[in-house]
Amino acid sequence: MPPDQFSPVERSRVMRAVRSGDTSPELAVRRLVHALGYRFRLHRRDLPGQPDLVFPRLGKAIQVHGCFWHRHACEAGQSTPASRMEYWEAKFTRNVERDRHNLRKLRRLGWSVLVVWECQTRAAKREALRARLLRFLEA
Ligand SMILES: [Zn+2]
Repeated sequence: MPPDQFSPVERSRVMRAVRSGDTSPELAVRRLVHALGYRFRLHRRDLPGQPDLVFPRLGKAIQVHGCFWHRHACEAGQSTPASRMEYWEAKFTRNVERDRHNLRKLRRLGWSVLVVWECQTRAAKREALRARLLRFLEA
């Protein structure tokens, strides 16, 4: 069901769930990283944007973004619900600005950050993602 068909209460519940993580793209990344032998912390609240996976000793973090909410350049990230477009546009703009701001802050604090998009976690792209995660973590 597209998000614009939720009632306001449902919508805010869904958005909260999306924001607080444990989304399946994030789980896919966690599983891959775990299988590569790396251990990590989740959603460290003391870091800008509470990165999804944090590797304190490596100084690295991985942020997993939903394409729709965080406006990826892919098809899912470019679609906007047909109703209440201004509401959505404003929301998306805020999300993108917040992401950019948090990323910049994290990097200024010395963290290396990898952003993984939801569409890159699909089964068909899992192998490419695994290789990319390994490159990032080994670097
Ligand atoms: Zn995408």
